[in-house]
Amino acid sequence: MPCGTDHDRFVNLFKSRKGRTLTRKQIIDIVQSSHPALERSSIMPSDHDDRGNKGECGCRKFNDHVFERVGRGIYKVR
Ligand SMILES: [Zn+2]
Repeated sequence: MPCGTDHDRFVNLFKSRKGRTLTRKQIIDIVQSSHPALERSSIMPSDHDDRGNKGECGCRKFNDHVFERVGRGIYKVR
């Protein structure tokens, strides 16, 4: 497994939403509604997208990323 629980959290929450296009805010709202103790600032969709980022999860290297970035702050669930 390329990543730990943060990645798994995204996978579990978004596997039922494949193909949907969501804004960064919608994604954060979904994660936070299931995990209210998480700080919004610690919920980083860009860590699990196809572009990669500083501090990224690394899932992109394994073609295991959760999102494709289709615009600025807009992600498609893959
Ligand atoms: Zn990841």
